[in-house]
Amino acid sequence: MQIAIDGPAGAGKSTISKFIAQEMGYLYIDTGAMYRAIGYKALKENIDLDDNQKVDEMAKSSDIELKITDHGQSIFLDGADVTSHIRTPEVSMAASKVSAIGGVRRTLVDLQRKIAGINNVIMDGRDIGTVVLPDAEIKIFLTASAEDRAMRRYLELKEKGMEVNYQAVLEDMETRDYNDSHRAESPLKAADDATVIDTSGQTLGESVQTIVEFIKSRVEA
Ligand code: C5P
Repeated sequence: MQIAIDGPAGAGKSTISKFIAQEMGYLYIDTGAMYRAIGYKALKENIDLDDNQKVDEMAKSSDIELKITDHGQSIFLDGADVTSHIRTPEVSMAASKVSAIGGVRRTLVDLQRKIAGINNVIMDGRDIGTVVLPDAEIKIFLTASAEDRAMRRYLELKEKGMEVNYQAVLEDMETRDYNDSHRAESPLKAADDATVIDTSGQTLGESVQTIVEFIKSRVEA
């Protein structure tokens, strides 16, 4: 069984996917974390994000693994746990940039398909229903207004004790959405056979409830 959840930043994809994975015993694959790991490495190694060939070669020679640790799912880059380093605004933007490079996408999509091939999975990202798992049994395109998504992300970051500014979160999110939707390679869009669910006006908790009910009704049908 494969469940694909796509949508713009801050739509609640990862919160929902984690919840479903736990409830149903599925493996959760956070593909955004993989692009973030490559963006993080490029920044750390001072690789020019506009040098597609260099970033592509770096991605090919990188070892990326998702593992369950005491802190839940963690992402390992070349053997080191980088989970706590990949959620900064700087890494978000770097991830968005490297994710537009065709070679980087091919490297990560291969890895994502390999993991999905041997498990019941719920995978979230931007191109899961369109490119990575075109035969997924359930495809959801999750969205909400930019203001609602930014508010949810702002509250989430604040709760984690981070210094954040709502307007900056909103602007970052809009820039990333624009880049993700307008790139040539696998742009963010709903698959033709995806169910589009708009959770504008709902809190994150309410939207989790909406999607969980939808997925359960589809799995049981
Ligand atoms: O989902 P998350 O916000 O962590 O993803 C970070 C960035 O990685 C996105 O803005 C997008 O540019 C890229 N991404 C992608 N394809 C995916 C998942 C993420 O291009 N399947």
